[in-house]
Amino acid sequence: MHGSSYGRYKSLRGSWSFDSFELEVQRVQPDPFAPASRCQVRVEPRVAGFPEQLWRNPVRARGLAGFLLRAVHRQLRDSRLRVDAGGQEVLDRSACQIAGGAVVLRLGIDLPGRGRTIDGHAAARALCDDLPEAVEAALRYATADQRRAQEFVDSVEDTDALRRALDPRGLVAFVADGAILPRRSGVDDRPLATAVPFDSPESLRVEIELPNRGTITGMGVPEGITLIAGGGFHGKSTLLRALEDGIYDHVPGDGRELVVCRDDTVKIRAEDGRRVHRVDVSPFVSHLPTGADTRDFSTDNASGSTSQAAAIAEAVEAGARALLVDEDTAATNLMIRDARMQALVAKEAEPLTPFVDLVRPLHRQRGVSTVLVMGGSGDYIDVADRVLMMDAYHARDVTGRARELAARPTGRHAEADEFPPVRHRVPDPRSLETDRPRVRARGVDALTLGESTVDLRAVEQIVDAAQVTGIGLALVTCVREGLIDGTRSLAEVLDAYAARVDRRGPAAVDDHYVGDFAVPRRFELAAALNRLRTLRIAA
Ligand code: ADP
Ligand code: MG
Repeated sequence: MHGSSYGRYKSLRGSWSFDSFELEVQRVQPDPFAPASRCQVRVEPRVAGFPEQLWRNPVRARGLAGFLLRAVHRQLRDSRLRVDAGGQEVLDRSACQIAGGAVVLRLGIDLPGRGRTIDGHAAARALCDDLPEAVEAALRYATADQRRAQEFVDSVEDTDALRRALDPRGLVAFVADGAILPRRSGVDDRPLATAVPFDSPESLRVEIELPNRGTITGMGVPEGITLIAGGGFHGKSTLLRALEDGIYDHVPGDGRELVVCRDDTVKIRAEDGRRVHRVDVSPFVSHLPTGADTRDFSTDNASGSTSQAAAIAEAVEAGARALLVDEDTAATNLMIRDARMQALVAKEAEPLTPFVDLVRPLHRQRGVSTVLVMGGSGDYIDVADRVLMMDAYHARDVTGRARELAARPTGRHAEADEFPPVRHRVPDPRSLETDRPRVRARGVDALTLGESTVDLRAVEQIVDAAQVTGIGLALVTCVREGLIDGTRSLAEVLDAYAARVDRRGPAAVDDHYVGDFAVPRRFELAAALNRLRTLRIAA
């Protein structure tokens, strides 16, 4: 085809047999400037040859896929072919799946052109040299780095087992001794080389046995209310951020392989300007000056405090059992109201009930634990079940000292003693167009869904653009497949979604999409729906 018009690339579409794999060219770009063309490689089990123990359960299969993606990615460094290998988290991705021992890999390729004509030599190099070489070097057990593959898969399985060990032990999170928590920078998620490794305070130290590593020790964070105090710059936010990311499994060498939190943990923060639609924020907000009913509260432009109140109500509605809050990103007036403010501004003149008075009822009555970073106010000492202090990056248990302080009255009185059940909302399927709307991720910051754009900057547990695409696809699928049907509550929709993902993996998100995506968690799906400006609630 060399030298013929670019459009002739179209004839590549379809299946091609190579010696060791099948190539399917799924989509061909119409011109050199259009989004990359897409293809899929399938290596049959007898050729791939990965022993069954490396993929015998879904978690190990995800680990192996994660390992292979990174190996292929390295192989293709200087090629026009691209795979979506991801960063430090090992996500369930469409880009590589292990299907009964077969390896299915999905790639993008920028088909080369000279102006509007085909550069056949460059295309042949990519498809007929780079691709078979990468398959040969990375996707076959015989030539793979077998020891590292084993390590990778074992490590992912251990992290997953550690996370599952939390609930039966009454823990919400765990940080292993020796874990490396800080990252190189805000834009580089690899471990900080000069970090002080984590060491657990003795009073919170637990031992957990893992399937591959054996017994490990570290800090178990029990259910209830945990306050993380300590001076500025002593590592509080870094610890909380590691917990936030503890819903994911990390690659070996990341430093957070043994840092986990329960998979129903949700980071909460303030997000002024967001839309809130028909959320019951009444535990936090009563009698607004506008007279709006705060049990059924909507706004197109939430304040810091109402946005955070809504985020908590939405997380609980979606099934969260643990919340993470950092003072750095919280709305102060929703978090605290000290004795002097109580004296100066009467309760009748203050619509807000601070979280400090709701955090205990939230646990006692609704079973939702909280881990909270607060260095700037001591009022949470009264309500915390335990207090950690970060001291030059070392965690200390200062609960005893905190109890002594709590015995001295501050003059502050509690403003609430209950957290009523959240109201369950029924999303209306007409909230989004389903006629195959365009789904596009703008990094991890925004999702374009047809005509709508959903701002996801404050949904901090999204770590990868592929998840954003996954969220968009999953939302459309939830409507198209009738999960969002105008009678199911949002919690029921999310249950149905989670059950489908357990059964079908990425195919539950979308089984036709040609492109890369990762399977999102129910909470990020809910977070996106809640931020969709066209969301309608049927009841
Ligand atoms: P805080 O929230 O207590 O003010 P941060 O968690 O933001 O503190 O941490 C302050 C700085 O210290 C950050 O630059 C962070 O990367 C660094 N840091 C945090 N933990 C460690 C550690 N264990 N070892 C080395 N540096 C760390
Ligand atoms: Mg901080």
